[in-house]
Amino acid sequence: MKKFNILISLFYLLSTNIANAQQDKKMDQYIDELMGKMTIEEKIGQLNLVTAGEATTGAVVSTDVESKIKAGNIGGIFSMTSPQRIREAQELAVNYSRLKIPIIFGMDVIHGYKTIFPIPLGLAATWDMPLIQQTARVSAIEATADGLNWTFSPMVDVSRDARWGRISEGSGEDTYLSSRIAREMVIGYQGDDLSKNNTLLACVKHFALYGAAEAGRDYHTTDMSLHRMYNEYLPPYKAAFDAGALSVMTSFNDINGIPASANRWLLTDLLRKDWKFNGLVVTDYTAVNELSDHGLGDLQQVSALSLKAGVDMDMVGEGFLTTLKASLDEGKIIVEDIDRACRNVLVIKYKLGLFEDPFRYCDPERPKNKILTSEHLTLARKAATESFVLLKNDKQTLPLKKQGTVAVVGPLANTGANMPGTWSVSADLENTPSLVEGMKEVLGNRVKIVTHLGANLTDDATLQERATMFGRAIPRDNRAPEEIIEEAIQTTKNSDVIVAALGESSEMSGESSSRTDLNIPASQRRLLEALLETGKPVVLVLFTGRPLTLAWENDHVPAILNVWFGGTETGKAVADVLFGDVNPSGKLPVTFAQNVGQLPLYYSQKNTGRPLAEGAWFQKFRSNYLDVSNDPLYPFGYGLSYTTFDYSDVRLSKSKITMGDSLVASVKVTNTGAYDGHEVVQLYIRDLVASQTRPIKELKGFEKIALKKGESKIVEFTISQEDLKFYNQKLEFTTEPGAFKVFIGPNSKDTQEVEFELAS
Ligand code: BGC
Repeated sequence: MKKFNILISLFYLLSTNIANAQQDKKMDQYIDELMGKMTIEEKIGQLNLVTAGEATTGAVVSTDVESKIKAGNIGGIFSMTSPQRIREAQELAVNYSRLKIPIIFGMDVIHGYKTIFPIPLGLAATWDMPLIQQTARVSAIEATADGLNWTFSPMVDVSRDARWGRISEGSGEDTYLSSRIAREMVIGYQGDDLSKNNTLLACVKHFALYGAAEAGRDYHTTDMSLHRMYNEYLPPYKAAFDAGALSVMTSFNDINGIPASANRWLLTDLLRKDWKFNGLVVTDYTAVNELSDHGLGDLQQVSALSLKAGVDMDMVGEGFLTTLKASLDEGKIIVEDIDRACRNVLVIKYKLGLFEDPFRYCDPERPKNKILTSEHLTLARKAATESFVLLKNDKQTLPLKKQGTVAVVGPLANTGANMPGTWSVSADLENTPSLVEGMKEVLGNRVKIVTHLGANLTDDATLQERATMFGRAIPRDNRAPEEIIEEAIQTTKNSDVIVAALGESSEMSGESSSRTDLNIPASQRRLLEALLETGKPVVLVLFTGRPLTLAWENDHVPAILNVWFGGTETGKAVADVLFGDVNPSGKLPVTFAQNVGQLPLYYSQKNTGRPLAEGAWFQKFRSNYLDVSNDPLYPFGYGLSYTTFDYSDVRLSKSKITMGDSLVASVKVTNTGAYDGHEVVQLYIRDLVASQTRPIKELKGFEKIALKKGESKIVEFTISQEDLKFYNQKLEFTTEPGAFKVFIGPNSKDTQEVEFELAS
């Protein structure tokens, strides 16, 4: 029977391969024929991606879009929505341009389209892979219903520097977790057939190393060893391609002296030759033009450089459109460079099914029943509750009882527009409930809610303006701060408990929102102090797009729930968790430092030649600081629950394995508290002796389990040679024999450890 099944699978595999090869042949013939009819200008036109301007992130906006479409000078448009508008634009292309080549329509659908899910850093905190895939699926369903077929997501840039505002858009600091998430998102967007009218082309970004910008300043230089690049920063991009992602966006940054958008080693040698990527390479917004500011020459020169490096499509800047013909005439590029790029664009259009039916995404009925559906909102609420991380909960301050009066105070309490978080360009800000509105809806009249602004977002009005762009305004009260606080305290007089809704506004993180001070703004800290002085229990509901520095809050506030930006259903989801309908289970995908001077801080550091003794925090001539310990405030993987979990000793099925063999590490986890809950059991490994230095711990597996109170489960991780591989000095991906440590625990710090040996 088994043999028969194997035969059937082989037959299936063979026939799918044959069918795929036949389809590819058909596609190649179609494109060859089409390209045979195209002029050089028309080919160059395909390489031009313009913005319709509904959401722009740069100073330049595309002009004259209509006449350019008719002239065949546009290959793609982004930030245009609705089936009607997209149909109109597509009609211009397929009715008026000479060769009737359809256009692709893109958008930044980053963490939801209309139904907004938590910001990506928050989604990563769920450690729930099926859920993350579902959020991408729903994003694809909604965005395609509104006419789109391409999203500029997933963003998979590993980042270890919380000063960088875009840390909010990725999955945090860890290579393994980011890689797992990248895969889920690509599958969620692209499904199994890109030509279906509810699948969306994924675009992996920002290739590459954008998250390692010096000093956390956006668009800044990256300079990195190949060793670190291959082992720590590149795997998430690779994971997304391995999952089938068919487009990629180049990053703005310089990489070891050559900016990504002109980097032939990156875009051709690594991406196409080594990784066998055969999709579309698009630049980031005006990144070709910016090569001139990087100091690589005038627009004609940098456009030629970028094309030759491997870029296919030029976003917004029109350097390709306006200069490539001249470069061809002058022999600076060859026709094959243009043909390659044009073919890559046409292949995507073919795979999206646009040649067959250019209007397949333009059904005016679909938005009515595919967007903001109750199922989508339920998923968003679930995702939000799972993303929240309980950082502190002294004396069981939480969950709260559904009774009495709750004062919800702070600048983030009454702003629906700030709930979706950064990069939610298509969110319906007007109709997103605020925290207070969401809480009222969930609690009805069982709990009385009183509320007050309490403090301005920041004392500095100019900073507040910068931090509340794109319609995310928070009202400002221009009275003296003491007066506002005094009034807020009056509001809390008859309350039983205070919920302080503080932290960052949504635009305090995200693009071009780097910060050097990661404390809660002083205006809000003063409010928090005053609220604590009332002697009432205070719960800090912390909004943030990055790891803030919370040493003071950790010392003084009894309960802290980090809610990031939870999306459309944030308000209700916070109520679900605060009042115990949902037990929090989020775990940090990024380290929270004690202070900004520790950055970049991440758990998978190297040991150095002078490590601190276990438990010590200062030793002369050891690798440490005079003024603060090396410890984080909250380690990677950390997050509390209303219940408690007990971990047994870790057991290994074998203490020695040979290459090609595997062993099982297991642990028994018991829910020892008073609530049912979820726990993310984490597996880390350390390679103790190798031909090069290795991190002190690397995440290599995790499992999110549900445990009823009193219940136990045994969690098993299979460890094989594959899990022990790394890129050596010759950049070979190998396993070296020797001793390894296995750590299992509820976070990267509180782990149990055992050792095994891998024999050669
Ligand atoms: C961002 C990209 C985004 C693009 C298009 C750029 O400024 O870096 O992440 O996809 O704009 O909106």
